[in-house]
Amino acid sequence: MGLDDITRRVHAAETAAGRESGSVMLIAVSKVQPDDRVEAVLEAGQRIFGENYVQEAQGKWPGWRKRFKDVSVHMIGPLQSNKARAAVELFDAIHTLDRISLARKLAHQIGEQGRNPQLFVQVNTGDEPQKAGVLVDELPGFLDQCRELGLTPEGLMCIPPEDENPVPHFRMLRRLADENGLALLSMGMSADFESAIAEGATHIRVGSAIFGERDYG
Ligand SMILES: *Cc1c(COP(=O)(O)O)cnc(C)c1O
Repeated sequence: MGLDDITRRVHAAETAAGRESGSVMLIAVSKVQPDDRVEAVLEAGQRIFGENYVQEAQGKWPGWRKRFKDVSVHMIGPLQSNKARAAVELFDAIHTLDRISLARKLAHQIGEQGRNPQLFVQVNTGDEPQKAGVLVDELPGFLDQCRELGLTPEGLMCIPPEDENPVPHFRMLRRLADENGLALLSMGMSADFESAIAEGATHIRVGSAIFGERDYG
């Protein structure tokens, strides 16, 4: 547990997979965590964070960005279209582009604001009805539509079904990225980031293993 331990495990998993040290970006998922825990991780040198809620991120990050240089904040939660403006203002990357109405809003805001967050398309690899994400069969068409809007998705993201072995989902995401000419893979969380690294993750999203359990109460 803790940042040092996770950083060591990331490096060990990179080495075990025959991958270059530092090739995996560790996103520290700070959603819902108390400020003192996040500040401790900032003080320890971590600069890349993940958030799930636009409003929460709006409250927390402008202040920390002033105090800690070179912070980047990644949106990893479901994004409502009416939050597209704030999302483009706030985030350096958005991992949850999952529908064309959102793509249109983001394209508009990117044009207006002259900002260019890195984009990942979320894929519903488990074909789960309640889960966000583009269906596997619809991915190539969705990417074409995004590109027609002037967007340049650089990678794919998935959240495997909770009760399944995540590895087949990681493999599927990697295959889809290869087939569609995308370089980046956002996959792996506290419980499974080492297998995600073995399967080619370029971005892992780790919350509770760094900060401790989240208290939603
Ligand atoms: C909360 C969250 C994470 C981090 O989960 P942990 O199990 O705490 O590591 C990663 N990805 C997404 C999309 C999340 O919502």
